[in-house]
Amino acid sequence: MYLRPRTLQEAVTALAQRGGQILSGGTDFFPALGERPAPTPIVDVSAITELRGISFEQDYVSIGGLTTWSDVIRTPLAPCFDGLKAAAREVGSVQIQNRGTVAGNLCNASPAADGIPPLLALDAEVELVSEAETRRLPLGEFVKGNRKTARRPDEILARIMVPRALEDARSVFLKLGSRRYLVISIVKVAAVVQADGKGKVRQARVAVGSCSAVAQRLYDLERDLVGKNLGREVIDFVLPVHLCDLSPIDDVRATAAYRRDAALTLVRRAIEACTEAR
Ligand SMILES: Cc1cc2nc3c(=O)[nH]c(=O)nc-3n(C[C@H](O)[C@H](O)[C@H](O)COP(=O)(O)OP(=O)(O)OC[C@H]3O[C@@H](n4cnc5c(N)ncnc54)[C@H](O)[C@@H]3O)c2cc1C
Repeated sequence: MYLRPRTLQEAVTALAQRGGQILSGGTDFFPALGERPAPTPIVDVSAITELRGISFEQDYVSIGGLTTWSDVIRTPLAPCFDGLKAAAREVGSVQIQNRGTVAGNLCNASPAADGIPPLLALDAEVELVSEAETRRLPLGEFVKGNRKTARRPDEILARIMVPRALEDARSVFLKLGSRRYLVISIVKVAAVVQADGKGKVRQARVAVGSCSAVAQRLYDLERDLVGKNLGREVIDFVLPVHLCDLSPIDDVRATAAYRRDAALTLVRRAIEACTEAR
């Protein structure tokens, strides 16, 4: 059975009554299916226009779950979203960015998902809607493991909410792969740094992806950067010990040792880019 509801209400009712798998842009869904027949029912949410686009509430920026990566790139956003936009430009190719959605990336929960580190670094929350309730979870609690999330089968990820408190902060996203484009990353890093107006770091957020089953925030590093002078010297405070909770694996793309080394370099470059004088 294939269903294509037009509203969020119709979609959650369909999921509550019949169950089924959600289909959005299909750029993870269909490759994962391979040659197998499509499961039934499929709830294709791609016609629910109310879930697409970015809006601005008083305390947060709301990114509809069906917002595509191309939508993220095109929408004028505050500097703290520069890292998310850079990540959007790295998702596959333009064709993939035109179809692939932010919610699809988060719900697929690949350790290599480019959308997760920048949204973790922005303290994003996800809003999950079912017929029974609407609940919000910090993104760090939503993504639970390699392709595992806290989403219940009857829930749709309706929107991603980013607090506006860091809007003036600088942000970057750096991705290292074995080639420049259309590549699954070896390491990626997102950083958001807010200055205090007196030449020092007020707040910092750093997340590393592809070096553990779930992208990780480096909380100890974030704490150690507060109060440090902006400028190149700040990277002297980024130490290997700050990355000790990462658990990179050896695979076809890189060894664990290389990943750990590359992660340290990328974190330093990301912090430097967020703190250098302009
Ligand atoms: C050639 C190619 C290159 C790629 N390159 C990259 C890359 O460089 N970086 C990267 O991060 N990703 C990459 N991807 C993966 C993919 O494009 C992204 O993860 C994309 O954001 C997925 O979104 P989608 O809408 O297509 O999800 P879908 O494929 O439609 O769905 C993915 C999963 O999420 C669930 N889902 C989707 N939407 C919702 C929702 N609103 N609520 C609840 N569950 C939902 C689906 O049931 C499914 O399990 C690539 C894919 C391809 C085919």
